[in-house]
Amino acid sequence: MPLFEFVCSECGQPFEELVRSSNAISEVSCPECGSPKVSKKISTFASRLSGGVSSSGFSAASCAPGGA
Ligand SMILES: [Zn+2]
Repeated sequence: MPLFEFVCSECGQPFEELVRSSNAISEVSCPECGSPKVSKKISTFASRLSGGVSSSGFSAASCAPGGA
């Protein structure tokens, strides 16, 4: 499910919207003020997934020599 993060250009309200197709993105409007002027951000799901796997602090922390 493509969950996109948007930010309203009018009131600055951030919100998330499930978008089935790229065409539907242009039909997204702000739930706060109803303005169609919204900016799409990178999907939180995708960014969390890739970022969590590649740049997770888990392995780095366990491999750290330790300050104490
Ligand atoms: Zn708005």
